[in-house]
Amino acid sequence: MTAKHPEHRGGCLCGAVRFVASGEPIGSNHCHCGMCRKDSGSGVSTFVAFPTNAVTWDGKPREYESSPGKYRGFCPKCGSSITWRKGDDDSFIDFRLGTFDDPSLFKAKKHLWMRTALPSFAGIDPEIEHFD
Ligand SMILES: [Zn+2]
Ligand SMILES: [Zn+2]
Repeated sequence: MTAKHPEHRGGCLCGAVRFVASGEPIGSNHCHCGMCRKDSGSGVSTFVAFPTNAVTWDGKPREYESSPGKYRGFCPKCGSSITWRKGDDDSFIDFRLGTFDDPSLFKAKKHLWMRTALPSFAGIDPEIEHFD
């Protein structure tokens, strides 16, 4: 074990899907788009991205192609929403913040889809970058 490569563990609500993401995240954002609202059932979705090759799985999410070439992964047993990825770019995979066993380790760096943000969620983390 080495401190240089922290292992971030996480999984779904029931535990059928577990993962380990090694190293540091390559990005994190709050997404205010309507599709993430439907997928999560919540007002804003926070994602943490890791290089795809830094991730190992114990149990695999099932995937739903929510728009052409964009895949949302969820637990086939409990339905927890876990991932978002692009089919044509395997350099990274987004994890929902709440799937990590210790989500307090991560901090969002930007807001996406602010033009569709709900007023009650638009004001969180005002100091980070905003994108329409
Ligand atoms: Zn599950
Ligand atoms: Zn979104």
